[in-house]
Amino acid sequence: MAFVTRFAPSPTGPLHLGHAYSALLAHDMAVTENGSFLLRIEDIDTQRCRPEWEEQIYQDLQWLGLDWPAPVLRQSSRLPHYQAALDDLWARGLLYRCTCTRRDIEQALSAPQEGVPTAFGPDGLIYPGSCRGLAQPSQRPRDAVLRLNMRLAVQDIPQLPFVETGAAHRGPVVTSAEAYETEIGDIVLARQGMGTSYHLSVVLDDAAQGVTQVVRGADLFDATRIHVLLQRLLGLPTPIYHHHRLIRDDQGKRLAKRDDARALSKFRAEGATPADIRRMVGL
Ligand code: GLU
Ligand code: ZN
Repeated sequence: MAFVTRFAPSPTGPLHLGHAYSALLAHDMAVTENGSFLLRIEDIDTQRCRPEWEEQIYQDLQWLGLDWPAPVLRQSSRLPHYQAALDDLWARGLLYRCTCTRRDIEQALSAPQEGVPTAFGPDGLIYPGSCRGLAQPSQRPRDAVLRLNMRLAVQDIPQLPFVETGAAHRGPVVTSAEAYETEIGDIVLARQGMGTSYHLSVVLDDAAQGVTQVVRGADLFDATRIHVLLQRLLGLPTPIYHHHRLIRDDQGKRLAKRDDARALSKFRAEGATPADIRRMVGL
């Protein structure tokens, strides 16, 4: 079977050791399986993405010894595809417009009604559903926050499985319709000023790129439940998922983009070699 994996960084800061581990692992798996390793630039968040960071990504990955086929897929070139999927979901009545601020959501949650869960899901606070019952226009509103009506989305889907090969959860991972409603809820699929969302874009792009194996950090394990559902709703194949351990700093905290101290470029400037980086991340 073909093996196609990808590394999908967002150019919002320097790549650090955690990114290096993710990219090297995905690349090594592709080499072992005689498959391909693709690069995708996740630049839908135009407020936070910078061309300099994108350039730095190419340089860092090349320095690490990685290569990938051209052209590189950039999410900013894919907006019409995201819009078409939103149109489809809107026409099927699966989306609704939400005008709540974060404060509105917190207030609705601090006066809990029966049956309304107050918890965090893979996408932050689980939305209390305040806007769900409002009348919706027949045309999909542009540049609006659109949420997925989770109850409708899972009504014919008693449960959804995906195959995980990462050590922490190896095997089939199954999410019930009830868990979709209570542990994930009505997630945002279109953000204002973006015209899409991470979840929608990643699912459409993995399918468009023919990705068969998603290799990424364990921090995205729970988001995968959302991705598998979107694949089902949009008639897309579900890849095999491999969520790897996270690289932590000396205090045991997971690395974030702002941890410039761990930037690959910094190690490189201090004379580290790609082999040193491999050793540092345990490869
Ligand atoms: N762009 C995401 C990030 O940098 C990764 C998305 C993915 O691998 O699915 O965290
Ligand atoms: Zn709302």
